[in-house]
Amino acid sequence: MLDGKVALVTGSTSGIGLGVARWFAAAGASVVLNGFGEPEEIDAIVEGLRSETGTTAVYSAADMTRPDEISGLVNLALESFGRLDVLVNNAGIFHVGPVDQVPVEKWNLILAVDLSSAFHAIRNALPAMRRQGGGRIINIASALALVGAPLTSAYAAAKHGIIGLTKVVALETAEENITCNAICPGNVWTPLAEARITEQVKTHGLPREQVIRNLLLAEQPNKRFALIEEIAAFATFLASDAAASITGAALPIDGGWTAH
Ligand code: NAD
Repeated sequence: MLDGKVALVTGSTSGIGLGVARWFAAAGASVVLNGFGEPEEIDAIVEGLRSETGTTAVYSAADMTRPDEISGLVNLALESFGRLDVLVNNAGIFHVGPVDQVPVEKWNLILAVDLSSAFHAIRNALPAMRRQGGGRIINIASALALVGAPLTSAYAAAKHGIIGLTKVVALETAEENITCNAICPGNVWTPLAEARITEQVKTHGLPREQVIRNLLLAEQPNKRFALIEEIAAFATFLASDAAASITGAALPIDGGWTAH
């Protein structure tokens, strides 16, 4: 589905980003990986991707809080592969706490990673997409880009901001065969989810099933975590030629959370 395409996925050393990169590679794309982690683990990811899919993968440790490094990341894609067809702005971090107790540095960091990094990546990628005659931009937002929840001020503000950015970029590129969309996952089954369950079981002394249903998935009507593969499969479709008319959309994968 993505044969011959080049995709850059930010924050792809773990979780959803890594899943998206794997699906893109399996669909035939060359991929640029990015994110933090132990060098040996990252080497294993890059090697695994190459051997499992036969595709070419390169990696950059660019820090998504730094505009100069984001520009270098886009340049790496262009220098390595000569083009950039798909940009996935996925890198993201989370913080829980009442709005009047969010440390200012934490607010600034979340806005930088979860919102501004997408702006910088998009402004660096667009000239190449325009030269090539098209492209796909996919922003990984959240259900908290569409609704609020207590204790998530910085995250929800950044993710709501991503939806605004998505719409404007879509409108500005609508006649250029470039699409820009946001995927809005609810709770996704990542390694972090297991850690949260264990922590809440300990804190509340409740059975595991009750913690999952009534605490972690309280807002998610279908009472199941989405799988990383569900997000990755949808991102692969959005990146494909078949999704040419979908642009400016905020697309939930949230088991009905935002249908409330
Ligand atoms: P994760 O923690 O598993 O992965 C985050 C990735 O971002 C990692 O590769 C990490 O190294 C990278 N990263 C973090 N800060 C960075 C920085 N400054 N520069 C470069 N890379 C950086 O997270 P995840 O759960 O897979 O989340 C991925 C995206 O999906 C995020 O944007 C998150 O907000 C969104 N999301 C996740 C869920 C969920 O349930 N997991 C739900 C909704 C939305």
